[in-house]
Amino acid sequence: PVDTQAMFKQGFLNDVYNERPVKPVFTRFPPEPNGFLHIGHAKAIAINFGFAKYHGGNCYLRFDDTNPEAEEEIYFTAIEDTVRWLGFTPYKITYSSDNFQKLYDLAEKLIGLDKAYVCHCNDDEIKLQRGGEKGASPRFRCKHAEQSVEENLQKFRDMRDGKYKPREAFLRMKQDITDGNPQMWDLAAYRVLDKPHHRTGSDWKIYPTYDFTHCLCDSFEGITHSLCTTEFVLSRVSYEWLNKTLGVYEPMQREYGRLSMTGTVLSKRKLKELVDRKIVRGWDDPRLYTLIAVRRRGVPPGAILEFVNELGVTTSNSIIQIVRFEQTIRRYLERTVPRLMLVLDPVPVVIEDADEFDGSEITVPFSKNAAMGDHKIKFTKTVYIDRSDFREVDSKDYFRLAPGKTVGLLQAPFPIKATSFTKDEATGKVTEIRAAFDRETKKPKTFIQWVGTDGSRKCEVRVYNSLFKSENPAAAEGGWLSDINPDSEVVYPDALIESGFDEVKRRAPWPEAAGESELGKGGPESVRFQAMRVAYFALDKDSTDDKIILNRIVSLKEDKEK
Ligand code: ATP
Ligand code: MG
Ligand code: MG
Repeated sequence: PVDTQAMFKQGFLNDVYNERPVKPVFTRFPPEPNGFLHIGHAKAIAINFGFAKYHGGNCYLRFDDTNPEAEEEIYFTAIEDTVRWLGFTPYKITYSSDNFQKLYDLAEKLIGLDKAYVCHCNDDEIKLQRGGEKGASPRFRCKHAEQSVEENLQKFRDMRDGKYKPREAFLRMKQDITDGNPQMWDLAAYRVLDKPHHRTGSDWKIYPTYDFTHCLCDSFEGITHSLCTTEFVLSRVSYEWLNKTLGVYEPMQREYGRLSMTGTVLSKRKLKELVDRKIVRGWDDPRLYTLIAVRRRGVPPGAILEFVNELGVTTSNSIIQIVRFEQTIRRYLERTVPRLMLVLDPVPVVIEDADEFDGSEITVPFSKNAAMGDHKIKFTKTVYIDRSDFREVDSKDYFRLAPGKTVGLLQAPFPIKATSFTKDEATGKVTEIRAAFDRETKKPKTFIQWVGTDGSRKCEVRVYNSLFKSENPAAAEGGWLSDINPDSEVVYPDALIESGFDEVKRRAPWPEAAGESELGKGGPESVRFQAMRVAYFALDKDSTDDKIILNRIVSLKEDKEK
């Protein structure tokens, strides 16, 4: 089992709690429903839900849906799904848009306090007011800041009533332009948007900004610790200013470092381009690092939590290589999934003297962990081995099958020695190997995997490599798209899997091994196993009852990467 509590016991998150040691704790995970969550968000989810859980409190899933220009239905569903898949249960699912009226009323209140005004300046004018290029000139307020409370109130109501077009007017907070922090330079609170909202339809023509909405929604929900990423450090001052000025309950904002991954892209624009250009199979393509992709690939949610936990939480950003993530996944799978035999590129071996064993049953353990039990497979006179485990010409430093050379077959009665082989002259490929049992050799140097002709099934195997050639695609010569690795997906259409697969599927996700029965249930991706000597695999969602499609989750060892 994963100790997902470790990061709350000491360090940054412990300090945050001790600054405000209240019970019950309330936190929130506040995604904007404008895209699919990525690996970085897993950190935010683990921190917010985990912090609340550790302190016996609760975490809201709040959709920060204040920008109808970017938000779509599918994202709401996908985000909630992902949170639950990671093993967390939202205390309540809320929407910033549910508070539109309340927020509006508070905006009027702010105007009444002479702490907000309706401004008609354009971007250039605002830039100049804020000190111009590089802040070189003195900051000043525009004439609109001089308007009376009554005038501001009237204009704000006019904004609400659709009397202004987008950009003709916006509500600005009257903060403190002498403050060194740009977040105090009369930020926008409301803007006019001529877009229907996904939840409130055409009720509103004005929408509140992040700076106005976030701190107030935190306040409405009684958030005790509002945890966000460090790019909001400067926003802490405006966050506190607004709640204090309005005299509402004041949550405490603290900031932790973002999680970024190198060797991939996470920005929505770039992901969209990969999808649109059909470079990948979709937003959940297993080569991507959206959480729907990582899930489809077969990465267990517990491994993601373990990863976030291992990195720890501080105020600095974590910039992580994919191989580091894969190490954690590998370690997690090593102890939680059953083992099977799979042959990627099969070539038949006829064992001439195996008649007495043809169709005999062998009992095979599912794992080194005896608790996972065992299953029966059938040995057959003809077995399939991987093409890469045979050489036409033997050599001294080679320890697998070759004419005159002996190799072990995992779990089989005896090792085999190749006697001859046939080749397709047109393709140059070996089509059949003839062999005999080697009853003398007790301990062959190598044991290879095989599948029999009885009960094994054909499957398509998709082996993924890095989608990009470099660690920093953005810096690639010719742009990030020219950094695409042409071998990022290698398909084996005629792979063979042993009969034990059916039981692996039936018992997935093997909670007795994972020790987290609630995690990772359900989808095809929770059918995971180690293909001995090959890699870790999971069932792909494109599979049907007739067609098995497998995704490589990770290789068995790091050096096989890329
Ligand atoms: P992106 O632009 O990458 O989608 P975002 O900040 O726009 O990120 P939001 O939907 O606003 O995404 O994020 C919801 C929460 O997740 C926020 O609290 C945000 O701080 C946090 N978050 C986003 N990206 C990361 C990351 N890379 N590491 C840690 N937390 C993150
Ligand atoms: Mg986002
Ligand atoms: Mg954001």
